[in-house]
Amino acid sequence: MSNPGLLKIGGATEEMMSRLTPEFTIHELSEISDLDTWASEYGASVEAVMTNGHDGVPPAVMAALPNLKAVSGYGVGYDAVDTDACVARGIKVSHTPNVLNGEVANTTLLLLLAGLRNFRHDEAWARSGDWEAKGNAPLANSPDGKTIGILGLGRIGQEIADRLSVFNPTIVYHTRSKKDVPYKYYGDLVEMAKACDVLVCITPGGPSTNKIVNKDVLEALGPKGMLINVSRGSVVDEDALIAALDSGKLGLAGLDVFEREPHIPDALKASERTVLLPHVGSATHETRAAMGALTVENLLQWKADGSLKTPVPECAHL
Ligand code: NDP
Repeated sequence: MSNPGLLKIGGATEEMMSRLTPEFTIHELSEISDLDTWASEYGASVEAVMTNGHDGVPPAVMAALPNLKAVSGYGVGYDAVDTDACVARGIKVSHTPNVLNGEVANTTLLLLLAGLRNFRHDEAWARSGDWEAKGNAPLANSPDGKTIGILGLGRIGQEIADRLSVFNPTIVYHTRSKKDVPYKYYGDLVEMAKACDVLVCITPGGPSTNKIVNKDVLEALGPKGMLINVSRGSVVDEDALIAALDSGKLGLAGLDVFEREPHIPDALKASERTVLLPHVGSATHETRAAMGALTVENLLQWKADGSLKTPVPECAHL
């Protein structure tokens, strides 16, 4: 029997491809110039898709694959995949939970330290000769002993709370349902923001969190407060964020994710109050290798017995 077809959307490492090539007939979306022409010849042979958290599976691609049975996502966030449409067609979807928790937590600590300790400005001070010309750099703020609110206390949120412990913080959190954890729960995000020095966003994207961090939340965080977003750009109202930073109603923002990636608004780039990263929350060799391995294992397990190793909750019953 011939190997099932696999449509690859986005990048993959050599290691991933070396494990998949003997098992699947691989098609590469970026190499398809005319989807209809390609689909008339190959669409029916493709039973699996491998994609990433940014591209998902575009509706036209879904429609071109009548026998699609499994989607393996490279990343834990799967808001780019239309899971309702997949469930309606009996298509199973997997993602890569847990293997990136530590790295995203590291990225959060990086943004926290860079923001509060003035890393950007101090580095520029050292590099530009300002130290010799102007004297000591302005004082920064300590990360120690702060009240840190975590919006989304799931797998990564808990790892962030654990790794933050070196700074002796008071951890508080907001989620839709209260968790069995030793931190104060806030059912109201604005109330939590009022109590926080730092607010860390680490929820999934999608409709339920769209612009959940709005003007009221940002202004409640206040002129000395810091927002850190390592979740999805959609979670924060970017226009309200720019206005709050520009007016001084919010102190600082450390951002790994943006509304229209890879575009970053000029106002955020120009601001003295921001630390910006190009969506690199999990982007280390080690963590990406672990994510790639899990993405591949989902596909190999599906080929072997029709099940996925780490299905997303919406599809776990399929
Ligand atoms: P989990 O599913 O383990 O945790 C999600 C948490 O968010 C839960 O505590 C959930 O609690 C809470 N939550 C969900 N919806 C809402 C809502 N509407 N309001 C308030 N809280 C909500 O996910 P992970 O921790 O594994 O991953 C979280 C997200 O991090 C991913 O979906 C992805 O978007 C992002 N991410 C970003 C990366 C980057 O590179 N910057 C890398 C990896 C992940 P409850 O259900 O009770 O509300």
